Parts: sequence; structure tokens; C-alpha cells
Amino acid sequence: MALVGIDLGTTNSLIAIWKDHKVELLPNSLGHNMTPSVVGVDDDGTLLVGEIAKERRISHPDYTAAEFKRHMGTDYKYTLGDKTYLPEELSAILLKKLIADAQTKVAEPITEAVISVPAYFDNNQREATKRAAQIAGIEVKRLVNEPSSAVLYKQWKKREDRVDGIHLVVDFGGGTLDISVVDCFENIIEIMAVSGNNQLGGKDFDLCIAKDFCTKTGLSFNNLRKSTRENILWTAENVKKALTENDSVTMRVNIDDQKYETVYSTKELLQVTSQVLVQMKEVLNDALRGAKIELEDVEEIILVGGSCKMPVVQKYLSALFQRPLTIDPEGDYLVGYGAGVLTGIINRESEISDIVMTDVCPFSLGIASKNDKSDKYPSLSVIIPKNSMLPTSKSQVFSGLVPFQEHLSIHVYQGEEYWCMDNLDLGAFLLDITPNEKGDTRALVTFSYDIDGLLVVTAKDLIGDHSLEAVVTQKATLLTPEEIEQKRLALKEQNILQKFEEENRRILAWAQRLYTQADGANKFALANIIETYSKALPEDSLIAVQKMRKDTIARLLQLEMTINTDFFGDDDIISKLMDDTTED
Ligand code: ADP
Ligand code: MG
Repeated sequence: MALVGIDLGTTNSLIAIWKDHKVELLPNSLGHNMTPSVVGVDDDGTLLVGEIAKERRISHPDYTAAEFKRHMGTDYKYTLGDKTYLPEELSAILLKKLIADAQTKVAEPITEAVISVPAYFDNNQREATKRAAQIAGIEVKRLVNEPSSAVLYKQWKKREDRVDGIHLVVDFGGGTLDISVVDCFENIIEIMAVSGNNQLGGKDFDLCIAKDFCTKTGLSFNNLRKSTRENILWTAENVKKALTENDSVTMRVNIDDQKYETVYSTKELLQVTSQVLVQMKEVLNDALRGAKIELEDVEEIILVGGSCKMPVVQKYLSALFQRPLTIDPEGDYLVGYGAGVLTGIINRESEISDIVMTDVCPFSLGIASKNDKSDKYPSLSVIIPKNSMLPTSKSQVFSGLVPFQEHLSIHVYQGEEYWCMDNLDLGAFLLDITPNEKGDTRALVTFSYDIDGLLVVTAKDLIGDHSLEAVVTQKATLLTPEEIEQKRLALKEQNILQKFEEENRRILAWAQRLYTQADGANKFALANIIETYSKALPEDSLIAVQKMRKDTIARLLQLEMTINTDFFGDDDIISKLMDDTTED
């Protein structure tokens, strides 16, 4: 059984596999590494996927669907001929094709996949992605955030001379902009913050150009026939791409035997699309704020995705960051490659099993609460804040609003808005509670969120002995109860941190032993080390722990030497003596 990594892009998709100690892309039936994320139907009802479907976009707009990832997780219906499809169904068709093509190059049946998703995908969009895989007949081993995937590949590739420090990944694709701030230290890749805009991408540049073209040539964009609009958008995309190589390009469109044309220069492109660039800046700001860092702290900037190929985008980013920037030569493949590397890690391939990658929660999670019973609407009381490191578990105490309340409603929401109704509703649970003599009620609500985005809610009545535990998933979840139970147990063990936990305990035990052996000032110093080290552990980031650990080990080694001094040095005297003896 084979596990593959898939970059399921808005515009293009890729599939990769870990083989013979390295990651490899699996080309499609036409021999191309990238498959356009386009689905269509033929006149006889046959499904068409990839290049063929893309070619028919202008000629058969009513039989072709593209960029459906933009509507993932919604019930938006695409009509292809006489049938309608949900975005997840179209994604499933695309996945099936990617896998069928890849299967011809892989001996074992492909049954599992790591799929990358924009870091900013919410619960609905992630669940829809999982359902797409299920419809396609494969199991999702892991959903990985696209920028994390890109960094994972870069760090693996440069394993001999990895760049430690903070990396900023800008993944600007066809329909989404995804930014991640990532801290790298030795074998640890720690996502510090993510931000993004699911509705901003290369398509928006095309739309800006298309609309400007219509204004300049006296056409009314909104009143055009669908196929004409597609035609203008198609040409606009080509003009945009041509402006990557040239300083000025003529845009020509034929409509009903009439010629329309106008010239675009790089400068005009900048003018026409400035609103897209400004929106990009907002997302960058949000990511840096989320990571609580300054511009100077960024060690390396990685540009990924087709839209980063645009000179205007590179120039704009260079100006913002005040340093020269270019797109990574493997920019189109980084995310797909990274998904492939992750399959190697999941399969515990020895050569990469020491890489640890943490991720963060891209949005806040909380429950509805009212401060006062006169409050008309509930506001969101955040339990797990955005950008918390995963897996995570956080608790908060809530009290009933009215005396002698018998139930506490735990209504779970996801998002950054103040009012609950403006956030994403993830479902509600009812906890029975016991009031004390005065009528007060109190309950402890705990959220545990794992690396796949599975949320477990537990609540405990603090006065009586009621409790509840629930797994929050979308209504249409297809996970079996057994699988959910398995995941829930794994979450409790917090697997990723385990390896670290062990080492931390060893260091603490070592320090404690030295404490017993030491006296005077050394005892005092050790007490200090033990206190600081054990205090810093639980909440800190892995990298902070790793750095602190290095310092602590150095100090303990020093103390070990002072406390258990060997006055004769640690040279192996016996073997020296033995050598001397044989010479005799
Ligand atoms: P996604 O990750 O969304 O599938 P990609 O990273 O493949 O998308 O980027 C696709 C976008 O990049 C499209 O909007 C396309 O027009 C744009 N693009 C691709 N090549 C170029 C280029 N040479 N110059 C400008 N834009 C480009
Ligand atoms: Mg992409």
C-alpha cells in the first residue's frame, strides 16, 4: 500500500512520493508534473480532467469547472451539462485522476495521501477536502498547510547546511494567498504564525486587467456573454504572464468579428492591479503581528506559487522588505515536494525520521458566552487563541448566568469576530450542572485540538459530578466512531512532544542528581537551573525549549566537572599504558 503527497491547488495540482531516500514527482498521463485543476464533461457525458478540460474552457464554458477550490466547504453548485457538482465532488474527480495517472508508476496500490491545504482553510474547508479524498477512495493521512509543506522540503533539501532562523513563506497562487512565519532550528521546523486570504490570487490580477481592458475599449464587462468574458479573462491572464518577460504587451481580443486592443506596460499593470497588492500587504502585516516579530527578524523569504513569478509582485515585496527578492527556482513544486517529504516522515523512513514539524491553529476557537443576562447576543469567549502551537489543550472556567441553572450550553465557534453569529458555528452541546446552596454553577471547559484539525471538547461540572466529552466534526463527517476514538486517544498522548518530554525529564533528573551531590554556591546555582527549566517547559515553543536545553546542558556539564572533579583528567590512562606495554 502506497502513501502519496498531493498539492491540491486552485489552479494546478501535483502528486509526489517518497522513494529511494528522496522525494519524486509523479507526472500525469501527458508526462507533465502539473495537472490543471479543471474538470469538464464531454458531449457524451465523459468526465475530462486537467489539460483537456482547461482547453475547453472558452469553447464549452457551461461544461467546464475551474477554481472550484475557492468554494470548497460550501454548498455552491457547479453545473456541468445536465448535472450539478459540489466543489468537493469536483476535487474528488481531480484526485481520482491524479492517482490513476500516478498509479501507473507505482507498484503498490495508492490508498493513502497527505494533502496540502491553504494554512488559512477553516474547519469546513478542511472537512470538505477530507470528504473529497473519501469520495475518491483514498484515506487522508494528514492535511498539511501548504507553506509548512514548502519549508519542510526546503529544509530537507538543504539538510547539510540548513538555514536556522525565521523564514517567511509567501505562497501566492491562482486563487489564494497564504503566508506563514516559520522558525527553523536544527531539525525542528516550527510554524509561528499563519495568515492568508482565501479569495486573493492570480485570478484577481486577471480580473483587474480584464475589467480595465473593457473600460478602455468601451465594453461592459458585466453584460458580456459568458464565453466572451472567459475569452477576455483568458487573454488577460496571458498578457499578465507575458509581462513577466516583457515590459509592454498588446492585449487583443476578437468579439463577433470586431477587434479590440490596447497596450499594457509594467507600469500600467502596477496601476491597474494596485488594489491586489495592497490586500497582499494586509495579510503580510497580519502574519508578522501574529508571530510577534519585527521585519529585521526575518532571515529568509521564500516566494512560492505562480503569482510570485510576476515582477510587479517581486518588486512590491522587495520594497516592503527592503531587500532583493526572487522566486524560488522550484517555486511551482515546493508544496508538492513537501507533501512527499511528509509521507516519508509519516512512514518513518529512517533518513528523515528526526525532522520534527509543528504547526499552529490558524484561527481562534471558543464558546458562546454572555457577560450579563441582559446581553442580547452572545460574544465569543476564546479558549484556544489563533496561532497556538498544535497539538494543544486549553481550559477555562465558565459560570451559569442565572441562579440555579441546570444546564450549560457549550456552543462552539471558530473565528476572530467578536459576536458569535459572525463566526463559524461548529455545533452545540449541553452539560448538566449542579448548583451549590447559593445557586451558583461552575464548569471547566477544555478544548483539545490536534494537528489534523480534530477538536475534542470536554466539560466538567465543578460542583456536581456531571461531565461530557464530544468530538466536534462537521455534520456530514464520514469518520467512523472507531477512527475518531483512535484519533482522540492519540491526541491525549500528544505524540509529537513525547520525544522532547523524555529528554527534558532526563535533563531535570541529571540536574537533581547534581544538586544532591553539590554544596555551597553550586547547590544554589542548580536550584536555580531546575526552577527555571521546569517552569519554562510546558508553555514554551519547541525551539525555545531546544535552545534553553542546549544552554542548560552546557551549564550542567560545567557543573558536573566542578562537582565531580577528576584531578587526573579524563584521558584514558589504561589504554595508554596498554599501548606502552605492547611496545616493550
Ligand atoms: P495554485 O497554487 O493556486 O494552484 P499556482 O501556484 O500554480 O496556483 O499559480 C497559478 C497562478 O499563477 C495563475 O493565476 C497564473 O496565471 C499565475 N502564473 C503562472 N505563471 C505565471 C507567470 N509566468 N507570470 C505571472 N503569473 C503567472
Ligand atoms: Mg499552490
